[in-house]
Amino acid sequence: AAEESVLALRNVTAGYGDATVLRGVNLSVRSGEIVALLGANGAGKSTACAVSVGAVSPLSGRVVLDGDDITATPSHRRSREAIFLAPEGRGIFPGLTVEENLTTWLPGAADRAAVYERFEHLAARRDVAAGSLSGGEQQILALAPALIRPPRVLIADEPSLGLAPMVVQQIFELFGELRSRGVALLIVEEKAKEVLEYADTVAYMGQGRITWTGPRSEVDADQLTAAYLGIG
Ligand code: ATP
Repeated sequence: AAEESVLALRNVTAGYGDATVLRGVNLSVRSGEIVALLGANGAGKSTACAVSVGAVSPLSGRVVLDGDDITATPSHRRSREAIFLAPEGRGIFPGLTVEENLTTWLPGAADRAAVYERFEHLAARRDVAAGSLSGGEQQILALAPALIRPPRVLIADEPSLGLAPMVVQQIFELFGELRSRGVALLIVEEKAKEVLEYADTVAYMGQGRITWTGPRSEVDADQLTAAYLGIG
């Protein structure tokens, strides 16, 4: 059913060595929904992303994708068609050309042609090293495969980091487009301004727990301030 979550973390506890970072996190994202995960520095947002993509194994709890328990599925077997991690700009291979980068994700020439048709500035730079692109162009290069072959879930950890406001706006428009195509989006941000314009649901994380979750329309300024200050 449309109401069922595509991605869910169920009572997830996780950490690094002796340090427990997530303490019973419940979080779910549905098809066609943007969930904004907000919270102070160090709250555990990136760790929740890492658990979702399989980079960190939970100590307890479950990760569920389309009803399947994938807790024990190693990250390399969680395909990009299923869970796509939109990297902070540098998930591309800087030494490879734009074309080579796209080929690693889109082996079919028709798919790459679709990228170039849509993003002309990438077409003009197809033979240059991806590392020489601007931050915004790198982010678009990283996101382009998801636009051509939408994944079930897209996770973006601080996509606005280091980008000019105009580029941030463009990136969020692309997220909105993916939402309308049924992708479930989990977007982590420390600064909430842009993400709140697009989010359907907001979840606050504080000290490894989800402290509040609800529709964006119910978010109030005090909660936001508390989340920024890490007292949420
Ligand atoms: P930030 O915005 O700073 O990334 P966050 O809410 O995403 O904050 P996490 O990055 O998940 O928080 O970090 C939560 C805690 O886990 C922090 O205390 C951090 O120091 C610790 N931590 C994160 N990654 C590791 C790691 N690879 N090894 C050890 N500790 C880590």
